[in-house]
Amino acid sequence: MRKPKIVILGAGYGGLMTTVNLQKKLGVSEAEIVLVNKNDYHYETTWLHEVSAGTLHHDRSRFKVADVIDKSKVKFVQDTVVDIKTAEKRVILENGELEYDYLVVALGYESETFGIKGLKEYAFSIANINSARQIREHMDYIFATYNNEPVKRDELLTIVVGGAGFTGIELVGELANRVPQLCKEFDIPREKVRIICVEAAPMALPGFDPELVEYAVTQLERKGVEFKIGTAIKECTEDGIIVAKDDQVEEIKAGTVIWAAGVRGSHLIEKAGFENMRGRVKVDPYLRAPGHDDVFIVGDCSLVINEEINRPYPPTAQVAMQEGVTCAKNLAVLVRGQGEMEVFKPDLKGTVCSLGHDDAIGIVFGRKLFGSSASFMKKVVDNRALFLQGGAGLVMKKGKFNFF
Ligand code: FAD
Ligand code: NAD
Repeated sequence: MRKPKIVILGAGYGGLMTTVNLQKKLGVSEAEIVLVNKNDYHYETTWLHEVSAGTLHHDRSRFKVADVIDKSKVKFVQDTVVDIKTAEKRVILENGELEYDYLVVALGYESETFGIKGLKEYAFSIANINSARQIREHMDYIFATYNNEPVKRDELLTIVVGGAGFTGIELVGELANRVPQLCKEFDIPREKVRIICVEAAPMALPGFDPELVEYAVTQLERKGVEFKIGTAIKECTEDGIIVAKDDQVEEIKAGTVIWAAGVRGSHLIEKAGFENMRGRVKVDPYLRAPGHDDVFIVGDCSLVINEEINRPYPPTAQVAMQEGVTCAKNLAVLVRGQGEMEVFKPDLKGTVCSLGHDDAIGIVFGRKLFGSSASFMKKVVDNRALFLQGGAGLVMKKGKFNFF
């Protein structure tokens, strides 16, 4: 009898957790499992603010997919997905095609610029490991350029971060630590450099615990970060950004603008014709796309409603990884044709937000943490994610042990 073929698209948190759990559950004779990913490596998206700022080398934040899959059960295809044809149960890749019986779409997030003029052309975003490397290299170049110009332009040294959500805050935390190193390396006085974080909402980290937000903002300001709160980015130009607060419009000249003010699901979700909201599909309780009993959607391309507040869970690695576990269980049930599928219910343990490698804020199991205890917890969380993906060996190879 022909084995059912399961194709998993994307080896980020959602796709990799589905794969490593599925390979434990199913025997070689039960299903053919194919994992497709653009690169031959997985990167820790949750560490990309460090790669962008240059406080962590990109090789520390990635590992080979081959190192964590069981090659006797999973075939890995390094290729880029260009389309999904659900009616024909086919996936179109840049270099070929794949048929499937069951599909898992885990293609992650893309930057959402909300149509703001100039952002696509002139701003950087932390979209993947390569865009993170580009930000780091760009800042190195800018700092190296400064002392080579006949007339020094201080505005070149201004770094603007759009958005004070968790990504924006974690990024400025790293930048605050990196800038003094860059200044030393390129003989530039620290006071010449501005790090400006622009947030449209009336507070940084809107909706998070106000006491912890105040701690974060105070700590970051102490390290030289300037906040412009209640201020929206309206346009990005070659020379910087245009912002508005109430009716006041201001131009901020900057050599580096990083947009960290919004994400959406993969554009391939829209292209494939799934019903979606900004590239995210409101999945059924078992994580399937409505009307497609053979297609599971996990990670940032999925949308799960938190019934208690009737709003979607935010797209996080925590949720993506838990979805991967449920998705693998449900696929095993379908392949075997026995048992009950599991209803997905996130088990949120909390949120920890770093403020550089040496400081953080967080709420874990309902307890507020800040300073060194939160920073310790952040590294525990990062190492735990590695453990769930590749076991103790991966933690030893890539883990964070700079606890103090
Ligand atoms: P991803 O992890 O983005 O993986 C998608 C994968 O699909 C990638 O491997 C990509 O290469 C591949 N892919 C994409 N398109 C294609 C294609 N066309 N063909 C083939 N392969 C493709 N969440 C937390 O819970 N905690 C945190 O501390 C945290 N910190 C974050 C820090 C930063 C800087 C950012 C940007 C996000 C952070 N998040 C955090 C959010 C979290 O990273 C995402 O929710 C999570 O990565 C989503 O997982 P995913 O599997 O859906 O996508
Ligand atoms: P986000 O949508 O959570 O935050 C974006 C911020 O940008 C918001 O505060 C918003 O008000 C602001 N903004 C939007 N438009 C703006 C404009 N024109 N000008 C200025 N500010 C503007 O996005 P994110 O921070 O990238 O987070 C994405 C997801 O990843 C979230 O679910 C988040 O929880 C998760 N994440 C988690 C962590 C963590 O747990 N440590 C870290 C990073 C990201």
